[in-house]
Amino acid sequence: MALITKAPRGTADALPGDSCRLAEIEKVASETASTYGFGEIRTPVFEHTELFDRGVGGTTDVVQKEMYTFDDNSGRSLSLRPEGTAGAARAFIEHGLFNEPAPQKFRYGISCFRYEKPQSGRLREFHQFGVESFGSAHFTAETEVIELASRIIGWFGIEAVLRINSIGCRECRGEYRAALKEYFAAHTDSLCDTCKGRLETNPLRILDCKNPECHELAAGAPVILDYLCDDCRAHFEGVKSMLDGLGIKYEVDPMIVRGLDYYTRTVFEFVSPVLGAQGTVCGGGRYDGLVEELGGPPTPACGFGMGLERMLLAAERSGYEFSRPEAPDVFVGYDPSDPAAMTAAARLVSELRDSFFYADFDVCSRSVKAQMKYAGKKGARFTAVIGGRELESGEVSVKNMRTGEQTPVRLDEFCERIFGLISDDLVSSELSDEVAGELAERGIDIRPDGDGKE
Ligand code: ATP
Ligand code: MG
Repeated sequence: MALITKAPRGTADALPGDSCRLAEIEKVASETASTYGFGEIRTPVFEHTELFDRGVGGTTDVVQKEMYTFDDNSGRSLSLRPEGTAGAARAFIEHGLFNEPAPQKFRYGISCFRYEKPQSGRLREFHQFGVESFGSAHFTAETEVIELASRIIGWFGIEAVLRINSIGCRECRGEYRAALKEYFAAHTDSLCDTCKGRLETNPLRILDCKNPECHELAAGAPVILDYLCDDCRAHFEGVKSMLDGLGIKYEVDPMIVRGLDYYTRTVFEFVSPVLGAQGTVCGGGRYDGLVEELGGPPTPACGFGMGLERMLLAAERSGYEFSRPEAPDVFVGYDPSDPAAMTAAARLVSELRDSFFYADFDVCSRSVKAQMKYAGKKGARFTAVIGGRELESGEVSVKNMRTGEQTPVRLDEFCERIFGLISDDLVSSELSDEVAGELAERGIDIRPDGDGKE
């Protein structure tokens, strides 16, 4: 019994009050990205397991321990996507988009699945807003995505530190890998079991381990920046000078290697101090080898993934004022004993909805008093009640629920008149908010629930 009334561990329902906040974050992110020319891409929630194995990397935590993998009825191994880049790269190849003019820029809002230990800011199903830019090897491609992330984070007033690093290319990383291996091999006893394995397969991963002992050891390890080849070094200088030119502050952090194998050269993270341990709101970088690794033509690319749940938490903690959940513009009540009044109310509501007003009426066959109580709870801006008298006179009294003011309105002009009443009320309620704000600054509270004392 308990199982069917409890969502699986690490998942979260978003009820209307919260979901509209997540939707606001996604909308701002998406609309901002569209001004940069990132077109929306939608890819499947599950892909062939091999895609993530090859794309994300068989030695990563994500693939080794965290994937939701299952066989379908025909015995095919599929996995729920743990991230969005591999699917986007697969679609880029499958649809031959490398034949289109570069760069090809995509944005997406997706759910991702990772079997991780659930905690604040860490879920098993979480949501990401991401972008990918395929086809440019130039550093302006990644500074463009960094600037985009910074703009979105800034919109929500979130304080976040941008940390950047270069992890080099295949050539310079070879030498670095050897140096890392030598360093960690001298300290194998202090490594966790997973990292002991990584020493052979992918020593870079050790730098990303969250085990405290490995972390401490990693602090003394050789630094990739000392091993960069001339091209990678020049590229990283380009990134930094472009960020300087754009006025985007950053810290170079040689410990950032990112958890996914496909990264090359630039990697970056935006870390917000208001979040504590799970502070990374956005991570990304360049992944020049991925498309080729998946069987496409060599295609440089870069992008980022932004955690929406973490963005929400950080925005709330930073005092961002989200739009309020929507309340009905108009609630039309009716005399439940009069079928003609009920139909008239339903028709008025339908007409209002035609004009995209949020209009509502009672569908529970309640008394007029109960209907009005419901309208009040929903925060309706205006109400009206239709009965025999209103039908006969062709006129109804419309009540402004904020001020209590009543206005007679002809039923055949209802829609147009409501439009005027709503816009007048919007202006005056904003004005009164402003006045209330000014008075509050002087210690006087005139809000309805305030005590009115100085
Ligand atoms: P972390 O270091 O926090 O585990 P990550 O490097 O695994 O993050 P990415 O794979 O880069 O994260 O994913 C991009 C973003 O998605 C992260 O910066 C974070 O905001 C978010 N994210 C990643 N994993 C989770 C999760 N389990 N729950 C909620 N958000 C997540
Ligand atoms: Mg992780």
